[in-house]
Amino acid sequence: MKTFKPFFESKIAEEDKNIKATLKKLPARHSALVSGFKYNFQSGNTIQGDDLHVGYIDSKTIGLAGAWNFGREFVFLHEVAHKVWEKLVDEKLKKEWSALTKVLKSKESDEELFCMYYSQHYVETKLVKFDDKKLDNFIKDLPK
Ligand SMILES: [Zn+2]
Repeated sequence: MKTFKPFFESKIAEEDKNIKATLKKLPARHSALVSGFKYNFQSGNTIQGDDLHVGYIDSKTIGLAGAWNFGREFVFLHEVAHKVWEKLVDEKLKKEWSALTKVLKSKESDEELFCMYYSQHYVETKLVKFDDKKLDNFIKDLPK
């Protein structure tokens, strides 16, 4: 796909701007968790070599595919949320969250649901799927 690459690379500067704009919307302690991270933007629907995921986060990189079902901002916020869950949500808050999510009767883990609701709270284009008010309030009231 040689002809596709230059086009994709020209999009990187634009994506960088988008990332910065989204990080500005987050509480300072949240955006600080990914400060200095590198971004791996991919053009496929899912992460290369991983059919099941549209994004990932490790100790220094956030990878984002060009997901079909979710906007890139949603996926980006989801990955940041994994860090927030790890670093800022203590055991007491995790228990509270777990109790609140019972109403969803979801098979997803507490952490995945947290990341979905976190994205939903901060994303520009909301998804109707994640519209529980109590869960949204939990996110709003997280330590800032
Ligand atoms: Zn996740």
